[in-house]
This record gives sequence, structure tokens and C-alpha cells, in this order.
Amino acid sequence: MPNKEIPYKIYLEESELPKQWYNVRADMKNKPAPLLNPETLKPMTFEDLRPVFCDELVRQELDDTTAYFDIPEEIQNFYKMYRPSPLVRAYCLEKQLDTPAKIYYKFEGNNTSGSHKLNSAIAQAYYAKKQGLKGVTTETGAGQWGTALSMACSYFGLDCNVYMVKCSYEQKPFRREVMRTYGATVTPSPSDTTKVGRKILEEFPGTSGSLGCAISEAVEAATTREGYRYVLGSVLSQVMLHQSIIGLETKTALDKYDVHPDIIIGCAGGGSNLGGLISPFMGEKLRGEHDYRFIAVEPASCPSFTRGKYAYDFCDTGMVCPLAKMYTLGSGFIPSASHAGGLRYHGMSSILSQLYDDKLMEAVSVEQTSVFKAAVQFARIEGILPAPESSHAIRVAIDEALKCKETGEEKTILFGLTGTGYFDLTAYQKYNDGIMTDYIPTDEDLEKGFAGLPKVE
Ligand SMILES: *Cc1c(COP(=O)(O)O)cnc(C)c1O
Repeated sequence: MPNKEIPYKIYLEESELPKQWYNVRADMKNKPAPLLNPETLKPMTFEDLRPVFCDELVRQELDDTTAYFDIPEEIQNFYKMYRPSPLVRAYCLEKQLDTPAKIYYKFEGNNTSGSHKLNSAIAQAYYAKKQGLKGVTTETGAGQWGTALSMACSYFGLDCNVYMVKCSYEQKPFRREVMRTYGATVTPSPSDTTKVGRKILEEFPGTSGSLGCAISEAVEAATTREGYRYVLGSVLSQVMLHQSIIGLETKTALDKYDVHPDIIIGCAGGGSNLGGLISPFMGEKLRGEHDYRFIAVEPASCPSFTRGKYAYDFCDTGMVCPLAKMYTLGSGFIPSASHAGGLRYHGMSSILSQLYDDKLMEAVSVEQTSVFKAAVQFARIEGILPAPESSHAIRVAIDEALKCKETGEEKTILFGLTGTGYFDLTAYQKYNDGIMTDYIPTDEDLEKGFAGLPKVE
């Protein structure tokens, strides 16, 4: 029914919620390259990965042929408490921009953790519990992942140990308290609770820590204790599988009104929200059923797609994790202290990397101040205070809508609004005070990161 009036918010009944996740790898002709064992350079096997991740999650990680995975009923029930997430027609923004474009956004900030990360956290906690484990360990930088995981673990009665980069631990005390309120132990990293942490502290006393170091500590804490596993909030294919819930709900809702987006936009840190949003649409494109334009938006300060290399690299600075083939800036690349903490990762999902390399997806990079300009514009007209990460997608959605105004084209634009910005008010303060800066790495800066790429192939 193409002429049905489209409401501000498109609802789904509980009975319409997805009962399976979709694995886009099943429809890819060129599969993403396998994870490699850093010692043997052979593809990681089930047995290689078992000491680090839960069995069921290893199966999902290694499976690139099964298109649909049943969502266990316990996870479906948890999803029902905060899903479907709102799919909003941005009528107010369209009117303000005076554009013929039709803009939709899928809002994932509608839960206490404030982002889409809960969609995968609950799945990973469920499989850990089902395997009879005592608990899980992880790292967190800006804190969104740690918060989501602590919520998921408290729901299933699992112990949750979060290694939080020391400077964030000190600068974001409120995030830390949310995690502790949900029962997680939060340790500033580097710490004296692990061998690798003690070593780093000895070498660099007074260091404020890094994500790479926190990963190394979390992996050690998981693999040296009985009944613990390590979990990761992005980049991995299993995470993108869980995040397909975003795209599946969106597609079900839009199909009810026979709406087909022309352009689908999302911010890209490790690629999980963007991958999750586009998955079912990309599936149609891969099967030749429908065409879409997909745009990944990354910060100019950490441009993995637009200026990175497609190569095997370490997933962490400590070089303990498997090698993944991805668009990367090198695991030694340290992006400048931008305010979109969730987008400061050197690499990118290997699924999205392959799709980008096959020209099935586009990427653009945007500068911080123009991102905050879009964030404030959006907040003032659509009401939601967006996370800095999410605002990268807003920036490009607005830019595309303004192009439509020039050409008169009535394109339909869909973007992912991944979360809220309540814990990012220091960044907003800088913007409001007019002292926010843009840092773009020089080619020389990038060369330093590329020089550290492992020699594979
Ligand atoms: C973590 C995070 C991101 C980036 O992670 P992806 O894996 O690329 O999705 C984006 N937005 C928010 C709000 C986040 O917390």
C-alpha cells in the first residue's frame, strides 16, 4: 500500500519481532578472509578459539554459510523489554532542511546502556551462562560496551570483570558507577592484577593506559582462570550477526509501508552497528533482488576505510588476539583524542572490509566540528541528544538530504542513530565553548602505523 500515510514512528507488534539473526556472509560470493593464528599463520580453528571465547560464539564466528541463526527464546524475551527500537520518520528535520528527501532513523539509544551494544552483550552473556561459565572479562574505552555487558551479565547472574582504560576510568566516573551498580568489577588498566599489567606499569609508571593494553589484560584474566571467557563488543563477525536485529526490524517495519531506502548510512568504528543495520538490505543486493547505496561514515581522525590498507593485522596493540584481514591503520596507530571514543579503533570488521573492497559499499570521513554542528542541529529539532559516534551518520544524512534539495530528487535516506550523548557532555561543552578542534593525521603519521603491519602472505 504505497499511499498509506507514514506515521512519525513505525511500530512493530511483539509477534513481528525477528526470531532469527541473519548472517550476511552466507550470501557473499567473496567471503571475508579467515582469522589467522598469530603463531602458525594458519586459519583459526574451533579448538584454537575455544580457550578464549564460548563454544557457541566460536561456532557463529567461523560459520560463513548458514544464513539464519535462531535467536534463543531467553534472548528474544530480553529483547522484548527494550525492542523494537524506534524507527522514526524525521519529518521535523526534513521540514527544517526544506528537502524533498524522506529521512528515517533507527534509534538504538533507548535502553539504559544508551547504545546498540546491548544487542550483542545479551547474546554473549547468554551463551556464557548456558555453557556453565562463572563469568566474562572485557575491556572498555569510552565505557558503552562495559555498561552494556554489565547489564547483560547481571541479568543472567554472571560475574563481569571490566578493564577500563585508566584515563576514561578517571574522566568518566559516572559510566564506571553505572557498571558497578549492575554488579561489575571495574579495574583501571593497566593494573597490578595481571602479569601484562604489572609489566606495563613497571616499564611506564604513571601511564594513563590504552585500549590495546586493556584488551591484553582482559584476555589474560579470562584465559588464566577456570570458568571465564573473554568477550568483545565489535569487529567480530558474531557481533555483527547479533546486531542484524537492527536491520531486520527496520526492514520489517519499512516493508509494511512499501518503503525502500535509496541510501543507508551508519557510523563505523569496528563496524557492528553499520553491519547490523545494512545486513538484510545488503543480502538483497548480493542476491540481485534490489539495489541500495550504503555509506560508512568514519572520523577524519581515524580513517580506516578511506585511508587505511586492506591487510592482515593484529586486533589489539598487545598482539595477543588472532590476525584479521581488514581495512586498518595498523594496530600501533594511536588516533588523536577525538570525542567519538567508540570510533577510535584502528581496524574494521572483516565482513565490511570485504564488501567495501568489492565496491558494494562506500565510505566517507568527516571532521569532528562539522559532526557536532549536525548533532546540535538534530538535537534541537528531533529532540534526541545524540552520541558523538552516532552524529557522524547524522552529518552525512543531512548532507545527502541537502544534495536532494539542490537536485529536487525525492530520495529516501535511512540512517542508524546508535546512541545517546548524556555521558559525552564534556565534548558538547568544548563545542559550545567554541574550543573544539579537528585533527587529521598526516600521511607520515599513517605510515608509522602501516610500518607495524605483520608480514603475512
Ligand atoms: C561503540 C559505538 C559505536 C561504534 O561501534 P560499531 O561497532 O562500529 O558499531 C557507535 N555508536 C555508539 C553509540 C557506540 O557506543
